[in-house]
Amino acid sequence: MTTDCLFCKIVAGDIPADIVYQDEHVVAFRDISPQAPTHILIIPRKHVSTINGLESTDQLLAGHLVLTAQKLAREQGIDESGFRLVMNCNQEGGQTVYHIHMHLMGGRQLTVLG
Ligand code: 5GP
Ligand code: ZN
Repeated sequence: MTTDCLFCKIVAGDIPADIVYQDEHVVAFRDISPQAPTHILIIPRKHVSTINGLESTDQLLAGHLVLTAQKLAREQGIDESGFRLVMNCNQEGGQTVYHIHMHLMGGRQLTVLG
């Protein structure tokens, strides 16, 4: 755990979150400022600051984030209507929390990325 990391604190249970799924490798919880009716963040338990910090040994973990998103989309009933997965990296990518996370968004018509 990185002590000054918000999402490490959520993983540790030190900051409350609306957790919808967790397992040995990932935790998924509702975004505090949802941009869509379903807006869930899926994060690895281990601290990685940005996508740039992923290593070849993280291949299974990276895949697990996607497959967890797929499972949650199905559970949330947005798999057929459609959804979006987003991972922002660094400032120009719009990253604000420096513990990697995948946004799962759906439940409304999403517009073009900008
Ligand atoms: P980013 O901009 O880094 O891709 O996404 C960070 C996301 O984390 C934002 O959508 C923001 O609303 C969410 N967020 C920031 N602080 C908290 C928090 O304390 N709890 C939860 N559940 N979400 C948070
Ligand atoms: Zn962290």
